[in-house]
Amino acid sequence: MVEFKSHITKIVDFPVQEGSPTRVFECEFPSSVSMPYISGQFAMIAHPDVKLLANPNALKWASFSISSSPEQKGFLEFCVGDGSPTGVSRKLMTLKQGEEILIRGAFGKFLLDENAPEYVFLATGTGIAPLISMIRTLLSKNKTAPITLYFGFRYPFQFMYAEEILALQKSHPNFKCIVIASRPDSSWAHAKGHIQDVLKDFSSPQIGQTKVYICGKPEIAEELVKFCVDVVKFSPENVIIEKW
Ligand SMILES: Cc1cc2nc3c(=O)[nH]c(=O)nc-3n(C[C@H](O)[C@H](O)[C@H](O)COP(=O)(O)OP(=O)(O)OC[C@H]3O[C@@H](n4cnc5c(N)ncnc54)[C@H](O)[C@@H]3O)c2cc1C
Repeated sequence: MVEFKSHITKIVDFPVQEGSPTRVFECEFPSSVSMPYISGQFAMIAHPDVKLLANPNALKWASFSISSSPEQKGFLEFCVGDGSPTGVSRKLMTLKQGEEILIRGAFGKFLLDENAPEYVFLATGTGIAPLISMIRTLLSKNKTAPITLYFGFRYPFQFMYAEEILALQKSHPNFKCIVIASRPDSSWAHAKGHIQDVLKDFSSPQIGQTKVYICGKPEIAEELVKFCVDVVKFSPENVIIEKW
């Protein structure tokens, strides 16, 4: 396990309405730090101001999936939702460019298999974090396996990585993204409802080998696993879940 100090270098905040704010940020990841990671893994982050409630001398560490790809050098990216006033997430929401954080990593068994014949990614909200890392890795290595991302959220303004995802779709014919808003406005040009409403139409000649990666809140992610196996008929051993 490696631990190092880093500084925030870039921040993108998403609007808040009826729910949690979300922030995507980048921080330094110098080549002198040897922390190899695989897409899907997470790091632990601490901030000098956030101590354990039970022990004011000990830092509180919290887990966050790494949303950047190991193919992207020099920085790590994270995608964070809001938390309680005394936690690390809330602190990360308030930091400015240049401020220091501590990082430990990398951890986790939610790992991209780079050699699957086909991929389906199912993300809700900040659950996009480990999945966008996987998609970045596959596409930057010019993998030709068909990749479909289903990305669900409530409001159109919660479409994180929109510009990048739409550009990747144009530049990689094997990558398709279906975005689904459950509370769209009249200008929303994509799917409406929940992921299941569109995923039910998924079909593929190699459905038995398709790798399905799911990430989101526990109750939604578990519902999606059940739907994938019972309704779409993906093989249970190919359906891999990360929930928090
Ligand atoms: C593998 C993994 C990957 C994850 N990836 C992401 C991700 O990419 N993005 C994301 O947004 N979330 C992610 N999460 C979820 C994130 O780790 C949790 O939301 C975590 O609780 C955030 O930590 P926090 O300090 O903000 O805690 P909070 O959300 O503030 O609180 C969680 C719990 O910790 C308690 N708590 C709060 N402050 C303290 C304190 N100072 N001392 C002691 N207890 C305290 C609270 O009372 C509450 O019970 C991931 C979780 C896991 C397990």
